[in-house]
Amino acid sequence: MKEPRVTPSTRACSSPVQPFLVRGTIVHIISNPFVEQNDEGVLETFEDGALAIDAFGYISAIGPYQEVAKTNSAIPVIDRSGCIILPGLVDCHIHFPQALMIGAYGEQLLDWLQRYTFPEEAKFKSQEYARAAAAIFFKEEIAQGTTTALIFGAHFEQATAIAFEEARKRRFRALMGMTVSDHNILSDLVMAPEQAYVASKQLISNWHHNGKLRYAITPRFAPTCSPAMLAVCQQLMQEHPDIYFQTHLNENREEIKWVHELFPRASSYLDVYDRYGLLGPRSVFAHSVHSSDEEIDRLAETFSRVAHCPSSNSFMGSGLMPLKKHLMKGIIVALGTDIAGGTGYSLLQEMNQAYKVQMLQMFSAQQPHLAVKLSGIRLLYLGTLAGAQALSLDEEIGNLHKGKRADFIVIDPHQDTLIEVRLKNTESMNDKLFVLATVGGKQLIREVFIDGQIAHAKDIDP
Ligand SMILES: [Zn+2]
Repeated sequence: MKEPRVTPSTRACSSPVQPFLVRGTIVHIISNPFVEQNDEGVLETFEDGALAIDAFGYISAIGPYQEVAKTNSAIPVIDRSGCIILPGLVDCHIHFPQALMIGAYGEQLLDWLQRYTFPEEAKFKSQEYARAAAAIFFKEEIAQGTTTALIFGAHFEQATAIAFEEARKRRFRALMGMTVSDHNILSDLVMAPEQAYVASKQLISNWHHNGKLRYAITPRFAPTCSPAMLAVCQQLMQEHPDIYFQTHLNENREEIKWVHELFPRASSYLDVYDRYGLLGPRSVFAHSVHSSDEEIDRLAETFSRVAHCPSSNSFMGSGLMPLKKHLMKGIIVALGTDIAGGTGYSLLQEMNQAYKVQMLQMFSAQQPHLAVKLSGIRLLYLGTLAGAQALSLDEEIGNLHKGKRADFIVIDPHQDTLIEVRLKNTESMNDKLFVLATVGGKQLIREVFIDGQIAHAKDIDP
């Protein structure tokens, strides 16, 4: 029997909510620390602070509790004194159809794809399987404090639609696209370019600008996309100028060698995409571990974004990302968990990995010119405002300024005695953030609010 087609039932809208104040230690990043060269200057903290949330899920005030309470005296207060309130975390690279295959042992990228990933992704032909995976995927994302993500969808139109539907249901801000490939991949995952065009058009019409959802053109990576498929991606980008684009770039040395064999006329891996006009401020390239100086220059020139995935790069032995080179050129770099190349959904733990990769680069690989030390403030930037900037969403999310969406997480140190004591003994907020990034995680996240509405509460999951 043919499974029913999934189409969006209603357009998402911001339904009015009861305005409220939330009281706690409010912490957010107000600008790019790598540009300002002044970590402390980009951090705003209200020790006994508050956010006021209006009826449409926007932040209507931020500041010291006494001040915010004075001008909002008639609305109820959620008292989270003793907790740290941070902006919702932003994941700039993650794969929905790898939701359930985390922790696959022992291979580098190309063998890992063949052995574990392609067979798993083929299971998403079943709508039942896709539906079950989508429920787990978005529930886990939110429980880990992530409220926005740029997501590789399934290779199947229906499974990708199912993921969009689940994101909409949970108010999760998903930027996603059906992953496309037309050769060099398991036959179940092959789609002809003409078919990819038709299916993508349908998904764009149903989901791009459906509430907060956005569509991203998603060729898997150069080795599985013929010139005809890349031309389809180009055509879709031209037909939808405000659409997003995402793919992989310079992750692994064997992969790069393969790209050179497949595209002998391209001057570099990046040039394969560049020839089809796929670079730009709405394009996010995952990894960029082995990009040449010329490629980094071209990424910068075109205002393309980079998703740094340190957990994945370590897990699959891909390499140590030359973060400093990218930042010095002014490229916006944000974090991606790259599930299931990465080993966890937690962006706090991704910050931990990012720090370690830079330390290895600096002291073990002896390449300090490629490395940058990541303070607590810098790490919080990478997991929040940088993600919003990478996705051109920084007018709506990324920090807790008045007028932004009320996407925030409540970190409760009491959930972990060791961390509670450690934080108590830590003086500066910069150092406290560093502790949260290195040893924190899901266990500390008491609540997650999206658009001012509760999306996750510890032990009381709605
Ligand atoms: Zn990936």
